[in-house]
Amino acid sequence: MTEKEFTELANLLYPGTQDISFYLNKYPNRHVAGEVTRLGPSPTGYLHIGQVYQSLIHRMLANSTNGIFYLRLEDTDNKREVENAGVIAYDMLVNLGLTPDEGYRGKLPEIGNYGPYKQSERIEIYNAFARELVKRGRAFPCFCKDSENLEEIKRKREEELNENDSLTDYDPCRTLTLEEIKENLKQGKKFALRLLSIGDSTKTHEFVDAIKGKKELRENARDDVLIKSNGIPVYAFAHVVDDTLMHTTIIVRGQEWYQSLPVHIELSRAFGFKPFKYAHTPNICVLDENGNKRKISKRKDSFADVRFFLNKGYPINAIIEYLLTLLNSDFELWRKNNPDLPYTKFPFSLKKIGVTNPLFDFMKLDNISKTIISRYTAGDVYDSAINWAHEWNKEDLKVLEENKDVLLKVLSIDRGGDRPRKDITYFSEILSLYDYVLPNFKLAEANIDNLDKDNVKNFINEYSKQFTQFADNSEWFENLKQVASKFNFVDNKTYKQNPEMFAGNITDASKLVRLAITGRTDSPNLFEIMKILGVNECETRLNDFIIKIY
Ligand code: GLU
Repeated sequence: MTEKEFTELANLLYPGTQDISFYLNKYPNRHVAGEVTRLGPSPTGYLHIGQVYQSLIHRMLANSTNGIFYLRLEDTDNKREVENAGVIAYDMLVNLGLTPDEGYRGKLPEIGNYGPYKQSERIEIYNAFARELVKRGRAFPCFCKDSENLEEIKRKREEELNENDSLTDYDPCRTLTLEEIKENLKQGKKFALRLLSIGDSTKTHEFVDAIKGKKELRENARDDVLIKSNGIPVYAFAHVVDDTLMHTTIIVRGQEWYQSLPVHIELSRAFGFKPFKYAHTPNICVLDENGNKRKISKRKDSFADVRFFLNKGYPINAIIEYLLTLLNSDFELWRKNNPDLPYTKFPFSLKKIGVTNPLFDFMKLDNISKTIISRYTAGDVYDSAINWAHEWNKEDLKVLEENKDVLLKVLSIDRGGDRPRKDITYFSEILSLYDYVLPNFKLAEANIDNLDKDNVKNFINEYSKQFTQFADNSEWFENLKQVASKFNFVDNKTYKQNPEMFAGNITDASKLVRLAITGRTDSPNLFEIMKILGVNECETRLNDFIIKIY
């Protein structure tokens, strides 16, 4: 086709659209010192932990360079759209302290001069850019889907692909004449717009990825669809147009987009746009049943949805700081050396992101969370639990509110000081962790199979008689030791073999009292708990325990 014919075709396919210069002028360069970066969630599911990981990169990158982090809703797949997912995604980012500076904001009006930030509201813009590509002879309408020979076309294509190492894939419609196209349009046939590729798959692009380093990928040589026959653009087209008009300075996105990069490069060259900088991030993985890494999956892993962590009541900082350990391996050391600084002060860098896919490690997350909560005051733990319950569990809220005084007392035990107690992982477990100070606590039956039951019963019986309100921990402990010295607490078999060796085993004695008072083998300082419960309640529990032994 001649240049004139291309222009005629462009106007025929996309009548009434603006010239792209209109949009290029409407969205002028930004005057921003740092990186302009964006998250582009598709509202086909709720905010994924991987997107939180991405957002943390965007937020830290924008903060550390005095740049901008904006949010664009990539809602072009309305078949798979989940109701309200966009609103929830924005709200979650705010909740997590990763609020974007600009863009789509859920129920709030969007902010920024580069909108609309919802792709479904940008169709006019996409059409203008589609028209431009046709005018440049770099895109053509494809009618194959509407053709009665579709199966035949598919078969021929398969054959060609097999012949030419499947890297070159020219669409048959690329050679249609203007007259043939006009005829198809006259017949009301729908068309998809395809890229007319001029790439050569035997050649490569060399580029530098900000995470992966210097790389090479084969040039694209496929006439990929850019706009589907329903008028909706595919990711590649929307990415190139939007990130150009919104002046994104670096495309930070998941590894899964890396292989399609040559199409994005070819497309942006076809428009004559400045090339983008890219950073392809590793994906957070879990191990599958065969011990191989696989991406965290919305379908298989309940924790893929970030609300899983918020619902459990992990502190926001625990989630964020854990993700930071996955992003920059020196974060842990930095945290150790700077225990009191906010994580936002950490010298984050894209260069420090490793290339291997990290494994999600709950144990590590839990340890980070325990450490963070151990540094809270009792009041802060209580308030955080209330905030959590307000949002996620109204029943717990009631119990937490009704038992404020006693909970504050038990939360105060072993707190402060150099080695605070690290027993709370998330706020939803507080009521079960400290159930023994709550009204209606019922001691479960105690299985102490490895001990001599009569001996235990006698010891508890004796202790319940001698136990009174002691002034301090050491007095209390002396008393316990003294009573315990008359009994032997080792397992039956060992004891029977060497009775004289095990007289007065205090470890088991205090374990038994702990079990009788709290129903647990592990608790904060037992003397303090007994003080909170009071002499009468402790006596009742000790006597109950004797009955519960089986
Ligand atoms: N909508 C794309 C996604 O959800 C965005 C990818 C990108 O960041 O470019 O994966």
